[in-house]
Amino acid sequence: MQLSDHYPYSIQGIDPIQLTKQYGSPLYVYDGATIRRKAAELQYAFAGVNMKIKFACKANTNLAILRLMREIGVELDVVSPGELEMGKIAGYDASQITFTPSGVDFEEVREAVETGAIVNVDSLPLLEWFGQTYGNSKPCMIRIKPNVAAGGHTKIMTAHADSKFGISVLLLDEILEMIKKYDIKVIGLHQHTGSDIKDAEPFLKVADILLETAKHFPDLQIIDLGGGFKVSYLPGDAITDMDLLGKKISKRFRTFCEEYGRDLQLWFEPGKFLVSESGFLFVTTNVVKEDPARNFVHVDSGLNHLIRPMMYGSYHHILNISNPKGEPKHYNVVGYICETDTFATDRELPEVRQGDVLAFLNAGAYGLTMSSNYNARFRPAEVLIDNGEAKLVRRRETMEDLLRTQTGL
Ligand SMILES: *Cc1c(COP(=O)(O)O)cnc(C)c1O
Repeated sequence: MQLSDHYPYSIQGIDPIQLTKQYGSPLYVYDGATIRRKAAELQYAFAGVNMKIKFACKANTNLAILRLMREIGVELDVVSPGELEMGKIAGYDASQITFTPSGVDFEEVREAVETGAIVNVDSLPLLEWFGQTYGNSKPCMIRIKPNVAAGGHTKIMTAHADSKFGISVLLLDEILEMIKKYDIKVIGLHQHTGSDIKDAEPFLKVADILLETAKHFPDLQIIDLGGGFKVSYLPGDAITDMDLLGKKISKRFRTFCEEYGRDLQLWFEPGKFLVSESGFLFVTTNVVKEDPARNFVHVDSGLNHLIRPMMYGSYHHILNISNPKGEPKHYNVVGYICETDTFATDRELPEVRQGDVLAFLNAGAYGLTMSSNYNARFRPAEVLIDNGEAKLVRRRETMEDLLRTQTGL
């Protein structure tokens, strides 16, 4: 756990309750040291090969986080023109950004190619359009669907046969024919299996499929194995063993490079792995309802700020940082949104009192980026703590923000 395990809770010596007083509650807080540590872990595990990290920035697009990534040598994987633009604002050169779209308007691909980003082509029609438009004048990568099911929840699997993502590996002949027809310059093969994959096995399996497929492509420079590493959700949780994975994949990759006759780059696109554990959502208890059936803790947030538990049942460890030594009790922790809005069911917490600040852990990935203004609520502020200093990196929204796009005021 990143918030220091023992009371008083702090992040790099900074008291989060103080931060909620200063910047308002609820509040997203990120620990830069954790991001640096996670990136270093990955770099260390793959030190034996030519490895590049492309942060899947849909997990967290705060510019301060993107700038931190850039500072530590992590490049970007984006899924939309908006993310591409944010990457450039954060100081990335377009050539350091990969665009991995999913069934987008081809004009978005044109925009990305023309700005200098590399595109992961994810369908045969797009491959054909790419060939007709660019011939061999621009390089591209191809997203292969390996037909392997893996991931923490069916809603976050992306590589099984029924998944919408990528071009099925069974269509290899069609892919090769298209490349030949238009003389398309394919410099990389890509795949992304899904999210919350704990074991090394699925990664090795898809690596095998991708490397086997790669033999048919003579001009490759890059093999991109995507993201999806599992992170720790509660104390003692099993996570992807990065050292083991690093050893096994590096070995397999080196053998492939020897057979291929050239040293290729190995890319990964972690989202969660880099930022999930760095982030906390701090909320305040509005009401404690001691119902005959259940005790409810109603907090000043909801699926409008953190939708993962409601969307795909993600577990977020919760700490009562105002009363860590309180008598343990069981609670349903719920939000204030008029909709199914449960963060945790029958969760044991030190007694929660009105006004207590709770910390939701693992809120650094797919937290604020998935937030909304549902129920006409404001999005929270964000604070990044780095090098021992807390900095406001996004202000809380106001009524003005909510009305900005409405006409007829
Ligand atoms: C979302 C996504 C990732 C990151 O997945 P994580 O589970 O957050 O690591 C990587 N690659 C692509 C193409 C994605 O869409």
